[in-house]
Amino acid sequence: MDLEVRISEIRAQLEAETNTPPACPPEQQRRWERLRSKYVGREGMVRELFGIVARLPADQKAAAGRRVNEFKAEIEARLNGAAPAPVAAGPAVDKTLPGRAPEPGRRHPVYRTWEEIVRLFQRLGFDVVYGPEIETEYHNFEALNIPLEHPSRDAFDTFYVRKPYLLRSHTSPVQIRTMKERKPPIRVIAPGKVFRPDKPDAGHSPMFHQVEGLMVGEGVTFAKLKGVLDLFAKSMWGPDTKIRFRPSFFPFTEPSAEVDVSCFICGAKGCPACKQSGWMEILGSGMVHPKVLENCGIDPEKNTGFAFGMGIERIAMLKYGIPDIRLFYENHFGFLRQF
Ligand SMILES: [Zn+2]
Repeated sequence: MDLEVRISEIRAQLEAETNTPPACPPEQQRRWERLRSKYVGREGMVRELFGIVARLPADQKAAAGRRVNEFKAEIEARLNGAAPAPVAAGPAVDKTLPGRAPEPGRRHPVYRTWEEIVRLFQRLGFDVVYGPEIETEYHNFEALNIPLEHPSRDAFDTFYVRKPYLLRSHTSPVQIRTMKERKPPIRVIAPGKVFRPDKPDAGHSPMFHQVEGLMVGEGVTFAKLKGVLDLFAKSMWGPDTKIRFRPSFFPFTEPSAEVDVSCFICGAKGCPACKQSGWMEILGSGMVHPKVLENCGIDPEKNTGFAFGMGIERIAMLKYGIPDIRLFYENHFGFLRQF
């Protein structure tokens, strides 16, 4: 076989095999080892060329030998050009760098407030109870002594699912469910979502959260209600907080009272937050109406009870100085990160 022809063939083959783009480093290393063995190894192609030289006439051997050695150097140069890059001095991953931790979530201000209120009443011996968000007219209105002609029975004030089912407009139906299930003495706290078809604005949302409190038993008096709410207000806003009761009306309590706390921003001196009055309205309360006890099979001659209900968003707004209820539901990180 003609030496030059074979050299041209080998050169073409080597070029074809080293022209492909470098693969990943481990693959590049394996390929390089394979090519070295194939071309210049002990059983390689260069050795084959020396075989051809050995069979040449004696006067041609020296020149042909030099030719093969030149070609071998050419192959080595080409293989060295395709050699894997030396491993970088440092590791590709710097393990000493601080990691990029995923940003942990935080509890929503409404739920933080929810938990704070619930824990407080739990320490006073109240059980946490829950009721369905889809209620019946009976539990949401009738059993609570809200008569048919009461304005809040109007469809405009309640989301009806399909009569007699509705989205509960307050957590008070949980009082009814509890009194029907348990015998006095009863001490429960019922947090949850409530729904009203209000146009959203700074103070209104079609969905918000309430906490309902109920205590029923022998000798449960208005004085006990005052004591429990006074403790609540002092725990929530500090030991100097005062509360006051203003006469009010709810169909399911008699007597009924709105409860205000002394403004914790200005210390009851008067500021824009309390409209210069020194007081902030926080909840509605009263003694459970005897008819409501009767509706639940509890003897109103023997037992009395008090109930109160408050909006969790309102408490959170007062606690954190949040001016607009809609901020709770927009899930802007800038807002939520503050808590
Ligand atoms: Zn004030």
